[in-house]
Amino acid sequence: MSHTLFISDLHLCDSRPHIQQVFLRFLREHAIQAESLYILGDFFEYWAGDDDLDAPQHRNIIEALARLTQGGIPLYVIHGNRDFLLADNFARATGATLLTDPTLAELYGKRVLLTHGDTLCTDDVEYQRFRAQVRDSAWQQVFLTQPLAVRKAQIEELRQRSEQEKSYKSIAIMDVNGDAVNDLLRRYDYPELLIHGHTHRPGMHEITVDGHISQRWVLGDWFDHGNSLRCAANGCAWQET
Ligand code: MN
Repeated sequence: MSHTLFISDLHLCDSRPHIQQVFLRFLREHAIQAESLYILGDFFEYWAGDDDLDAPQHRNIIEALARLTQGGIPLYVIHGNRDFLLADNFARATGATLLTDPTLAELYGKRVLLTHGDTLCTDDVEYQRFRAQVRDSAWQQVFLTQPLAVRKAQIEELRQRSEQEKSYKSIAIMDVNGDAVNDLLRRYDYPELLIHGHTHRPGMHEITVDGHISQRWVLGDWFDHGNSLRCAANGCAWQET
């Protein structure tokens, strides 16, 4: 049956080469059979700019994505909070289409709203302030004028700080805010499905907003193993990878 696959939060990086192998196998065995593949953010642990495309640790991944799209499988990518600097050169090299966050798609007769999910974590005021800054195009332009090595060092510093902050932020603060979810569904005229990642809390939540029923699917991360969501005409289901 024709179906579409959704993944997010792979956080690909040097320190977890095992997951790179799991992902390459996922492309060969699963993605190749799909109608299309959506990556909903935080594909890379971080992305310092498209001039890092040729780094040895990225080359395998970029080539594998290019093989997928050349094989006729469309690839759609939404930015995460780790890889929001993925840009046109990445899209060209892989054949991916970068989507705005959120994007409303229509799949198998259902309206599906796709987002990374970090904008829904409105209780984390500090993070939302940081996000507004780094998603500002003027800020990005200035950031990208610095040499790659300098950018990487800055990102490394930010990551360490963010890990420290996470340890004292409560679990609730780092989850989605229910009102933010409802507002988003309302704004897009109550799509039947909302799919996102970011919180690393995989699950399906059935919610009713103003009398309309939606399913919110939260994708899992790829820290221990791969996992993807498979959606077809008969609904969505988890697929172990
Ligand atoms: Mn994220």
